[in-house]
Amino acid sequence: MASDNNLVAMADRLNLTFCRDHIEEIISETTNSRMNPREILQFVFSREISRREENRIRIGIMAAHFPRKCTLEEFDFSVQPCIDTAVIRELKTLSWAGSGSNILFLGPPGVGKTHLAIGFGLLAVKQGYSVLFKTAEALIKELSEAHEMGKLEQKMQKLAKVKVLIIDELGYCPFSANGSHLLFQLISRRYESKSTVITSNRPVSDWGLILGDTTAATAILDRLLHHCSVLTINGDSYRLLAAKKANLLAKNESLS
Ligand code: ADP
Ligand code: MG
Repeated sequence: MASDNNLVAMADRLNLTFCRDHIEEIISETTNSRMNPREILQFVFSREISRREENRIRIGIMAAHFPRKCTLEEFDFSVQPCIDTAVIRELKTLSWAGSGSNILFLGPPGVGKTHLAIGFGLLAVKQGYSVLFKTAEALIKELSEAHEMGKLEQKMQKLAKVKVLIIDELGYCPFSANGSHLLFQLISRRYESKSTVITSNRPVSDWGLILGDTTAATAILDRLLHHCSVLTINGDSYRLLAAKKANLLAKNESLS
């Protein structure tokens, strides 16, 4: 009979990491539960599959570089009644990611645009899509630096490959003409095959100003909006609502 050490070495060689790390538990669990051979195989295979799924998601989340972890489940849609929940349900199917459609989250600061973008990004990672989160400022900086160093093509190829690219906070910092042109090149490459999720505090009518170039803005919007869900969130800032609530509670407490 193979010793545990031998079994661990074999599991490691086969890349069966669950078996490698839990050989003792597997033996005692399957013995105590009096599993038959078929049940033992089912038990071991299912644990191994779960382990691989967890690893894949962990690596996908790391590669996405989310600035924080927030989920769609944590989003309180009741405070933003202007968001059509039927649209959210449809977006949760991720058919947009499969078909290379885009999403724009527009609205003032604090209404949850970044939260939703991360939430959908996380869902996309779980479903097996490659995801990358960048602020607009960081993205343009990276592209401009790659351009200066003669490495633009490499950079573009890498960014064009990502299935879901989240560009956060478009509009907080105005772009140079070169920056807008680089963004246009990237959006063009991704057009109709990869999805881009953008958050912005400015309506699309202002994008000419943000991008510093009306022609580039029109060309970018033309491609982005062709297959796109636009969610405009007009409600109050969530932070402000939370502050108001806390204030109200404090007042009520002082009355009692
Ligand atoms: P925006 O990107 O629109 O400026 P954020 O997504 O950064 O806003 O939201 C600000 C903070 O409020 C975050 O911590 C976010 O998780 C939280 N938040 C915003 N809207 C909601 C909501 N409807 N439900 C739960 N948390 C929310
Ligand atoms: Mg934001």
